[in-house]
Amino acid sequence: MRHYQAFINGSFCNAADGRVMETINPYTAKPWATVAQCGKEDVYRAVAAARAAFDHGPWRTMTATQRGAILRNFGDLIAENADHLAAIETRDNGKLYAEMRTQLRYIPQWFYYFGGLADKIEGAVLPIDKPDMFVFTRREAVGVVAAITPWNSPLLLTTWKLAPALAAGCTMVLKPSEHTSASTIELMKLAKEAGFPDGVLNVVPGLGADVGAPLVEHPGVDKVAFTGGDIGGRHVAEAAARGFKHVTLELGGKSPQLIFDDADLESAIFGVVSGIFAASGQTCIAGSRVLVHKSVHDAFVEGFVNLAASARLGDPMDLETQVGPVTTEAQFQRVLSYMDIAREGGAECVMGGGRARVEGAEDGWFVQPTAFTKVSNDMRIAQEEVFGPLLSIIPFESDEEAFTAANDSIYGLAAGVWTQDMSRAFKASERLRAGTIWTNTYRAVSYMAPFGGFKHSGLGRESGQHAIDDYLETKTTWMSFGAKTGNPFVIG
Ligand code: NAD
Repeated sequence: MRHYQAFINGSFCNAADGRVMETINPYTAKPWATVAQCGKEDVYRAVAAARAAFDHGPWRTMTATQRGAILRNFGDLIAENADHLAAIETRDNGKLYAEMRTQLRYIPQWFYYFGGLADKIEGAVLPIDKPDMFVFTRREAVGVVAAITPWNSPLLLTTWKLAPALAAGCTMVLKPSEHTSASTIELMKLAKEAGFPDGVLNVVPGLGADVGAPLVEHPGVDKVAFTGGDIGGRHVAEAAARGFKHVTLELGGKSPQLIFDDADLESAIFGVVSGIFAASGQTCIAGSRVLVHKSVHDAFVEGFVNLAASARLGDPMDLETQVGPVTTEAQFQRVLSYMDIAREGGAECVMGGGRARVEGAEDGWFVQPTAFTKVSNDMRIAQEEVFGPLLSIIPFESDEEAFTAANDSIYGLAAGVWTQDMSRAFKASERLRAGTIWTNTYRAVSYMAPFGGFKHSGLGRESGQHAIDDYLETKTTWMSFGAKTGNPFVIG
């Protein structure tokens, strides 16, 4: 079995106490590698290395143009190794190799975009309201950033933090999910080759309680960038508040897809299938709540079931497979438990509804693509994030009713709108309280498009030019070139 070590101050190393954890392939439900299982001592070493690299290292004295060039080298190296990294991710999280490969091949764009931005971070000269003063602002790196990430798209979500943080001049300690640490560790070989000085990037694999919590609480950390569930997010936000640290959070969702009576139904069905069954529903942006106009409800359900029922479940490494397993056994049990919750709540199962058996992978954590009708928006399956291939279908009669139901959620990450009437589409874009509104499309993301959530779905935005602001502090410098006059005891 392969073994993946921690990466601290430019070197791969085992956990201080020598502990290791297994990482499991969800397709076989068997371990395929071991990973260093770090603890507090390793966190302290990693933060010390990141702190030293920020306070004294060459990263600080390098020009922004030089830093940008290293980011672009990194992007090139990731492009060359994309398929290899994607295969590691598929082994770890069971998501389709076809999807992980697409993500990995796209990731370099974030490093090119933010690498290009590194030397365009400008301050301002202020037309100050006092005589004989020159006042200017500089925008400086916030310092040491702790990046804590989940298992569903390990390197993509890490990149959303890495690229702007490094472009800003920060140093980092990465804490990948305990279920999918291997690709982040493998990435560090490329980081070394790209030219990042020692200590700029560190990876401390381990459990949330053993590594995540002490990392967030460490006084040497200036900012925490977290992606994960709301329980972990709340812990992180509370700990960051206690230390007055900067924090950005990308959390969960229960994203609605609104299908109006004038929608192109074929496109809408395509978008809903991809919104809920891609990645076996394990995406924060899963379109898990369909709100469909009563007049097209039955036609939608029929077309949706026809298309979704053709899904090929199987080995996620096989490019022909359309639906893979879910990532962890706990997640598998949780998704199945929501099938019971849906039935007990009075919903009607129109497809799937239980465990799927896949030939050759009898132990694999496969769940049938599942949909329920007769759902009302107040049921638990319409309100709680399932993070699996389970769709709730809810009918509506008026636009107003659809907007109200869509917004009646603690979450606000994304929404899909299916209509051919552009004035209705603009109205929906205005009325829906979510960070991303997709109209006649779903799941599109880009390095230039800000991404993040309203309400319990998070704080701050990743991607797009302004993402870099979350990794910067503004410093104001006052310079006087006039004589000192007036009363020295009065500020004026
Ligand atoms: P999780 O919250 O269990 O874990 C995320 C990370 O946080 C892991 O690395 C974990 O070890 C760490 N962690 C857990 N508790 C911690 C604590 N107390 N202190 C510090 N770190 C801690 O989430 P998950 O199960 O890995 O991922 C699924 C969740 O992530 C879903 O809710 C999903 O919606 C969300 N997600 C959000 C986005 C987004 O961009 N909004 C993207 C992907 C996933």
